[in-house]
Amino acid sequence: MTQSDPWTIIENARKGGYAIGAFNMHNEETTEAMLLAAERAGAPVYLQVGRAIVPHMGLRRAYEMTRRIAERSGAEYVIHLDHGPWDEVLEAIKLGFRSIMCDYAHLSLDDNIARTRRTVEICHDFGIPVEAELGRIPDAGQDVDWSEYMTDVAEAERFVHETGVDMLAISAGIVHGVVDGKVPPLDIARIEAIRDATGIPLVLHGASGLSERDVMAARAAGVHKFNADTDLRHAFRRGFESVWAKGDRQLEEAMAEGRRLMIDATVDKMRVYGCAEKSGLKIAA
Ligand SMILES: [Zn+2]
Repeated sequence: MTQSDPWTIIENARKGGYAIGAFNMHNEETTEAMLLAAERAGAPVYLQVGRAIVPHMGLRRAYEMTRRIAERSGAEYVIHLDHGPWDEVLEAIKLGFRSIMCDYAHLSLDDNIARTRRTVEICHDFGIPVEAELGRIPDAGQDVDWSEYMTDVAEAERFVHETGVDMLAISAGIVHGVVDGKVPPLDIARIEAIRDATGIPLVLHGASGLSERDVMAARAAGVHKFNADTDLRHAFRRGFESVWAKGDRQLEEAMAEGRRLMIDATVDKMRVYGCAEKSGLKIAA
């Protein structure tokens, strides 16, 4: 299958009150795991080229490997760049990414707006929707003053209005990575206020730490894309390590077991996000 239209996937999610999962690819096995999960769940999926993979194999190789594996699958998918800086955004457009998240959070708000607007103009010329992030998302284990991190409603309204961005990733009590013990409070009222002020679909990164209840509340409040990596990575690792716990084994055996557990974990996420059985390909079939 070729890549599907991300505009339709997200618009359907918005109309249907559910969310799409965006999961990081890392190698052949994890890319296969996401696609096999999407096939099994009948869900559309964002195959995400994340921050860790770029220094590891480069953007081109990550994209080409993902596309080669995805084209053999029967899943509905979009290849998405996560947290791309400017030069990577341009490379991603040339390579054939269908969905892009740009990240200029290191700039001042005015410069962030100007650069994001430019990104939106270029991406829209190529039919690519753009996600951007406003607010700061702390890493797990950081002790933070949330008032300095959470997305400000008025700022979000201005940012979306002035940039024309299609989706907004927000900070509303989530962290990158999984929190041990104390779960950060998810500010549902803030999510609703940002949805009402911006009128566009919202995204939550770092969704691994969220309870099913939080996910349901966030979906109802306007979140239509969740980025989750840590839970799936942990599933892969469990499978991987369980093979070697039995003694020395072939790498292939360990990778296959990692993939098997990652598929299960991904299907579970898709069910909670509500995108299972929502693949347009499946509905058409
Ligand atoms: Zn993120």
